[in-house]
Amino acid sequence: MPRFLVFSDVHANLTALEAVLGAADGLWDWAMCLGDVVGYGPDPNEVIDRILQLNAFTIRGNHDKACCGAQYADFNPTAQAAVEWTFRQLRPDNRAWLRKLPGGPVSNENGYVFVHGSFEDEDKYLFSSEEAERSLDLAPMPVTFFGHTHVQGGFVRENGQVEAFRPTYASGELSVALALDPTVRYLINPGSVGQPRDGDPRAAFALVDPERGGVEYRRIAYDIAAVQQRMEKAGLPEPLVLRLAFGR
Ligand code: ZN
Repeated sequence: MPRFLVFSDVHANLTALEAVLGAADGLWDWAMCLGDVVGYGPDPNEVIDRILQLNAFTIRGNHDKACCGAQYADFNPTAQAAVEWTFRQLRPDNRAWLRKLPGGPVSNENGYVFVHGSFEDEDKYLFSSEEAERSLDLAPMPVTFFGHTHVQGGFVRENGQVEAFRPTYASGELSVALALDPTVRYLINPGSVGQPRDGDPRAAFALVDPERGGVEYRRIAYDIAAVQQRMEKAGLPEPLVLRLAFGR
């Protein structure tokens, strides 16, 4: 069965995306993007062009909707400023591509489900075990991939108990393997490529080998300062610039 690359929340950060693609080179047969391609970062057109080049199957995130003209009144002022900047930058063809992105959940013949936020609502965050439980109940297949929180890890339900988990990297380590137990249900978050918020500023992604039943969580360092410079030049809000270095 073909191996795949799964990634989410690139948020218009081309440098982080290129680092991920370099680190994953030769290790996947197809690619899945869980949404929030744009918003926050300085490279919306470049990131969309690169994802089209990869032929990655992409579902939409809340920022993708907002940046191509949907309402975003519930966004905080910083996010709103980034949405407005992104909307102005986007080429018409890329705006049209964003508008046509399908919403999750989608599933594929390998037996996985993909959503941006949660199973029942693409805009809902799954931070706690309580929030995750409903998605674990509703998903028709044992393994669902999700994004939106920018936190690498996920949830597992074993014997009725839902537990959150996070991969733990030893210093300098780039990957953490998770063997999937076929009798257990999982929600798996590859983390965010372009704006991690789990305390590790390195770009996050995951590789999946369905044949071996394994998920490999990965991190890769990228040139954060170069992205921050482009953001400053673009006049994007300072808190968005600063947070990249902290991974928060
Ligand atoms: Zn996001």
